[in-house]
This record gives sequence, structure tokens and C-alpha cells, in this order.
Amino acid sequence: MNIKNLYCSYPCEKINSCGKHQCDNECGKPHGHDSCPQKIPYRFPGCNHPSPKKKKCTEPITWKCTYTVYITGANCGHPIKKQCYEKDNEVKCPVKPCGRKRKCGHLCRNACGEDCEKGDCKNCNDIHKEKMKNSMKMQRRESKTLKTRSARR
Ligand SMILES: [Zn+2]
Ligand SMILES: [Zn+2]
Ligand SMILES: [Zn+2]
Ligand SMILES: [Zn+2]
Ligand SMILES: [Zn+2]
Ligand SMILES: [Zn+2]
Repeated sequence: MNIKNLYCSYPCEKINSCGKHQCDNECGKPHGHDSCPQKIPYRFPGCNHPSPKKKKCTEPITWKCTYTVYITGANCGHPIKKQCYEKDNEVKCPVKPCGRKRKCGHLCRNACGEDCEKGDCKNCNDIHKEKMKNSMKMQRRESKTLKTRSARR
């Protein structure tokens, strides 16, 4: 018989340092009560959002609240979805198209939170492309007529 295994195996039942939970270690095992391993649901301090996961009772919260919240865009009034820890002024409004006008007078097609002048204006680009196409057609037509003319000679 192994004497080392002979210890009291009843639950210890002392209260852990949290003051709420009973210790469920075996009485005879050497252990402390400074930390409480009980898994508990909790809310984040500050915002009071419930966490989707449980944590150990005495584990300090060192992570951020990722609860989904909606804020109203300060400049545009759109409802913006964000995670709780994200700063309001760092969240860009994703509403597309933004609906404001660019300097060229065309409607902005960027997201609301983006700079209206960011990137090229698609309308201006389309107009440019259309012009290029037309001038290409003209050139082709001209070269055709030149050819037919020279063929007749
Ligand atoms: Zn104990
Ligand atoms: Zn506890
Ligand atoms: Zn939160
Ligand atoms: Zn917006
Ligand atoms: Zn814009
Ligand atoms: Zn434009």
C-alpha cells in the first residue's frame, strides 16, 4: 500500500479568495485559495455588456469587449455597426454610396466614412472612356473611308 496516496479526498469546501465559491479541491491535496478556478459568466466593467464566454472567477479581464453596438455617425447620422471597444471617431461609416457630391459635381460613390475625393470619380472616368471609344471609332471610320477612296482610284 502506498502511503503517499492516503490523504483526505473529501472536498475542501473552504471559500476561495473571491468570497463566493467553495473550493472543490480535495481536502488532503496541498493547494491554496488565492485564485478561484470556477468558470463564471461575467459582464465587462464600464459598458456592462455580457461576455459570450465564461472566465475563471478571479481571472482579471485583460481583453476587450467585442459586443456589437450601433452608434449614430457624428457627421452623417447613419447607424453604424461597431464593436464596443472601437472608438466612435475611429469607426468609418460603411454606407455606400455616400450620396454627397465630389468636386467635379458628380455623386460620390465611396463609402460615407471615406474621403469623397479619394480615388478617381467613376463618372468622370466613364465619360473619359466613352470619349476615347468614340475617337477610336472616328479614327477607324476615317481610315476605312481613306482605304475605300484609294481602292477606287
Ligand atoms: Zn481548498
Ligand atoms: Zn470564485
Ligand atoms: Zn462593451
Ligand atoms: Zn454615414
Ligand atoms: Zn463621399
Ligand atoms: Zn466626376
